[in-house]
Amino acid sequence: MSIHLSLSLQTNKTNIIMKYLIIGGVAGGATAAARIRRLKEDAEIILFEKGEHISYANCGLPYYIGGVIAEREKLLVQTPEGFRQRLNIDVRVNSEVVSINPKEKTVTVAAPDGSRYTESYDKLLLSPGASPVRPPLPGIDNEGIYTLRNVEDTDIIKARVASGTVKHAVIVGGGFIGLEMAENLTHAGAEVSVVEMAPQVMAPIDFSMAQIAHSHLKEKGVRLYLETAVKSFARIGDKLEVSFADGRSIVTDMVILSIGVRPNTALATSAGIELGEMRGIKVNDFLRTSDPDIYAVGDAIEFPHPISGKPWLNYLAGPANRQARIVADNMVLGDTTRYEGAIGTSIAKVFDLTVAATGLPAKRLKSEGIPYLTATLHPSSHAGYYPDALPMTIKVIFSPTDGKLFGAQIVGYDGVDKRIDLIAQVIKSGGTVDTLTHIEQAYAPPFSSAKDPVAIAGYVAQNILSGKMQPIYWRELKDLRSGEYLLIDVRTPMEFATGALPGAINIPLDSMRERLPEISTHLPIVLYCGVGLRGYLASNILRLHGYSNVRNLIGGIKTFRTATTPVCAPDDKPKENINDSMRPITPQTKANNTNTASHAVRIDACGLSCPGPIMKLKEAIDTLPPGHTIEVIATDPGFPRDAEAWCNSTGNHFISSEASAGKHKVVVSRGLVTNNQLNNQTSNGKGKTFVLFSDDLDKTLATFVLANGAAATGEKVTIFFTFWGLNAIKKPVKPKVRKDIFGKMFSMMLPSDSKSLKLSKMNMFGAGSKMMRHIMKHKNIDSLEQLRDAAINAGVEFIACQMSMDVMGVHREELLDNVTIGGVATYMNRADHANLNLFI
Ligand SMILES: Cc1cc2nc3c(=O)[nH]c(=O)nc-3n(C[C@H](O)[C@H](O)[C@H](O)COP(=O)(O)OP(=O)(O)OC[C@H]3O[C@@H](n4cnc5c(N)ncnc54)[C@H](O)[C@@H]3O)c2cc1C
Repeated sequence: MSIHLSLSLQTNKTNIIMKYLIIGGVAGGATAAARIRRLKEDAEIILFEKGEHISYANCGLPYYIGGVIAEREKLLVQTPEGFRQRLNIDVRVNSEVVSINPKEKTVTVAAPDGSRYTESYDKLLLSPGASPVRPPLPGIDNEGIYTLRNVEDTDIIKARVASGTVKHAVIVGGGFIGLEMAENLTHAGAEVSVVEMAPQVMAPIDFSMAQIAHSHLKEKGVRLYLETAVKSFARIGDKLEVSFADGRSIVTDMVILSIGVRPNTALATSAGIELGEMRGIKVNDFLRTSDPDIYAVGDAIEFPHPISGKPWLNYLAGPANRQARIVADNMVLGDTTRYEGAIGTSIAKVFDLTVAATGLPAKRLKSEGIPYLTATLHPSSHAGYYPDALPMTIKVIFSPTDGKLFGAQIVGYDGVDKRIDLIAQVIKSGGTVDTLTHIEQAYAPPFSSAKDPVAIAGYVAQNILSGKMQPIYWRELKDLRSGEYLLIDVRTPMEFATGALPGAINIPLDSMRERLPEISTHLPIVLYCGVGLRGYLASNILRLHGYSNVRNLIGGIKTFRTATTPVCAPDDKPKENINDSMRPITPQTKANNTNTASHAVRIDACGLSCPGPIMKLKEAIDTLPPGHTIEVIATDPGFPRDAEAWCNSTGNHFISSEASAGKHKVVVSRGLVTNNQLNNQTSNGKGKTFVLFSDDLDKTLATFVLANGAAATGEKVTIFFTFWGLNAIKKPVKPKVRKDIFGKMFSMMLPSDSKSLKLSKMNMFGAGSKMMRHIMKHKNIDSLEQLRDAAINAGVEFIACQMSMDVMGVHREELLDNVTIGGVATYMNRADHANLNLFI
């Protein structure tokens, strides 16, 4: 009897047909429905979708608008009919679920004909996604202002673009969808402006990494308005005026609003389902909501971030699909599978660039008060000697205590995807910077280097973590006050001549050991090189020679320049920056050469980093007759700027630069005259340069008087202090520095500062100079020191001659803080832009 009862109960149990309702028929909903069917052949499954289409590729929508994806059908991964036939799922499109009654376990549906009906469920899944934000700005409802979320939106935007009336478009919001639209609308022939309220595009990455995207967007002709808030929209005839809070405005043909999305939670809220802190649907580890029979997935839910443990909204397709599979198992089999959470691994194509991120960015850790360290490096996508190696920048963020990885960001052209995915897996499994060095990767020259960029990231991070290298980050260096540290550029003199950080002295890595006597032990030392490696090697040398306070600029001058180059609003002039050579170079043509491209010699400098491309350029140009052009293709993004600075100081002509797919083509023509001839010619520039060779009080006075006068006309004025002239810019109170015997002798014999300068005539053992100073004071004429300060305040550039300093044993710390150290190339560069050059 008991056996019979048990058998009949089991039979009854298997006969119960479970009924699953699913709200939302795209990423989460459609995937879950298909999985439920695979788990349970006899279940009743109804999928409600308020739109016309299910299971479409929302991630492909921008590319269809831009014409990259040519056929609309390709977006429709599954049709309702196909779903019905293959999976026996009752798909109801154009059917909006308008309410849920959890007590009765029913939903009310608005049918396509407008009627309403209820449907019961055993288990209900919410996958209603998120909706684009449309802020209540004046004029927001004007025609021509669109958002992009689904196929219907896509059809409208595509038709508008196809009508040929969109010559210009404004994209409000620089997130990944906004930038994908910027690329695709550009592709479709429109001029595009991106307006972003934050100081950077791509919120998941840190500012220094976003700067790479900024300059790439500008290279591609996108007009970028950062830190710009839209205030209102207005219709002017068939155009739209977009007004900014700062008073500026743009007239455009179309606006795409891409300022973010919000989870669709209205249904859940009205059904009494609990929301979380971030206003997403709250779910437990099994993706079950506060109602035991209702589950939720996708953009509508919030879930704790695995790293911070704090609730997080994650609007990504991968997690939505993974959650869908898990939730189907839990709805059918009981709560068996836990969702582990997503760390926000994302990737986007921004024209030729790939921008990817995983885990938490440094800025988020900072705002949450979580201590962290970072390492930034600039490797190549594969071995430099194999063609087409392209640059990439990797930033890893990790715990200062145990090296646990918090996040990573990669911006580059090739091979970004595989690296970010690798690091994401390490982070998800709780790995550390050491784990990055243990990864076994496939290698052959076309794909990677024997030391893959991921491993190198691990090594750099290990060095920082273990204290082998004391890092200084670009932001810290920017905020350091000059005079408080000794800044040493350890690159080659040639690289130094293409532009250095202000106040830096050049001690190349290879001569570091011989030049140790020049390096003060009293000041903290900051070293930098191109990308950080030589700085690290130099810091080792210094540490081993007893220098204790030595820091290396992380990511080198490349990161510093990238991060500090101002992003000018489209019609603005470049803001003043660290120095002229750091200004971004936009694609440009300088028609200062009449030669035709048919003469061009082509040089491939791909895969080489600075100074490799410049050296190749120099070698090749030296073999050419004047007037002939040379075209250099390089992957080093700093090369166009370096080439321009190099041309300016060598008398060659920088003709143009353009970038495509991570390669920079720079065209230069051999100067028609030699450098000396060039310097003797009248220049078109308006600046004035003075070479102060003397340390006579009268000549020095005359120099500062002239310099102040010239500066008053608003022109750029440079004084190059060489040999005895260095005595005019020595500090009255100097820190102690280590000097060799010759340096000590020079110090003893030379005036110790400007107050000890003598007259060139009638000095009379110092009485003449004292009398001169007295008369000047009596006649209310500024003293030499006051004139010098006035010149500094008027922006006159003081350059101390590196070579003279070396010869005379003068150290950087002995000179005034405002002085820049430079070589002849730096002076020549200034002289090129001047129409008056005086040697005093
Ligand atoms: C243009 C675009 C590009 C994207 N690109 C990427 C990318 O490259 N990589 C990436 O990871 N992610 C990308 N995403 C995000 C990704 O598409 C989403 O994270 C994912 O689709 C979320 O899945 P979901 O099921 O939660 O919501 P959705 O896929 O949006 O599906 C929700 C569906 O629910 C329906 N619905 C809502 N309420 C109801 C209701 N009451 N009754 C019936 N139906 C309802 C909606 O009509 C909608 O079709 C992109 C999104 C867009 C819009």
